[in-house]
Amino acid sequence: MKKLLTLTFIAVFCITGTLYAQKAEPKKWAIAIHGGAGNVPKDMPKDRQEAYINALNEAVSIGAEILENGGSALDAVEQTINYLEDNELFNAGRGAVFTAEGKNELDAAIMFGNQKNAGAITGVTTVKNPISLARKVMEESNHVFFAGDGAEKFADQTTVERVDPEYFKVQRRYEAWKRANAGTGGNLELLEDNSWKMGTVGCVALDSEGNLVAGTSTGGMTNKKFGRVGDVPIIGSGTYANELVAVSATGWGERIMLNVSAHALAMYMQFTDSSLQESMYYLVDELLNPKEAGFIAVDKYGNISMRTNTGSMFRAARDSEGLKEVGIWVD
Ligand code: ASP
Repeated sequence: MKKLLTLTFIAVFCITGTLYAQKAEPKKWAIAIHGGAGNVPKDMPKDRQEAYINALNEAVSIGAEILENGGSALDAVEQTINYLEDNELFNAGRGAVFTAEGKNELDAAIMFGNQKNAGAITGVTTVKNPISLARKVMEESNHVFFAGDGAEKFADQTTVERVDPEYFKVQRRYEAWKRANAGTGGNLELLEDNSWKMGTVGCVALDSEGNLVAGTSTGGMTNKKFGRVGDVPIIGSGTYANELVAVSATGWGERIMLNVSAHALAMYMQFTDSSLQESMYYLVDELLNPKEAGFIAVDKYGNISMRTNTGSMFRAARDSEGLKEVGIWVD
């Protein structure tokens, strides 16, 4: 009887193992991006909707073109995020949200899954493209994570472009920040929805060499206090990649961190032999509470998953087989 059970177990294991391995023919390349989770009203003005959709399409095309031409996932992720950082529609680089002290302090991280290597920075105020500095931390230092003044000093030793902190300030964000503060006496927790805690950009990519890379860049949470570090630059929380999957998060950073979310998805996938979609459901619908966060991920086969439990997540995806997706709301 015991022998029969063992044989049955081995047979089932082999069958499911094989099935998983055959679940998808690996795609040559795949890329997904997000421009922040939140709860964008569905009656958002048409011209604004169009502006976001156009920006998402443009951003994802930058990475897709690099990958289609045999370029690396690392370049695709960095250059796609550079575009989103430069575009003031998004809470990253220019257009970042304001801290409680009225500043813009930026966080970013990048992780190269197949090399188990990463770079991250937090609290920078003069680096035009924080994701590029994160990449330099990974490639040009013996460390993984630099903070505040240290990150600025490290930037001094590199070729990354520097700007006056005023560069990041955008009138629309400033007014929204003022309005929110005035309406709540500075206590944004009084606001009805969580949206002020959210907004970030991210990109995950698989290249034709099979490399998986995840990157995330953000101004963080509106009204964040002195020295607040969010999930984005914390490897395993907002950004993570290994040989199986690359993940980037957006949403309420404190909750994402407390669930070590990006790493949780990767480990769930690895240890339960679940598909990317199943693992994403576990993360978004079981591990996290409703209205907290959204994620994008790509696995080693080029499968893409983009899911949020907030009302909206700016997102887009492309792959070598012609996938072209772009969206804002959940339904
Ligand atoms: N997770 C980011 C942070 O908390 C914000 C966001 O993604 O919306 O810093």
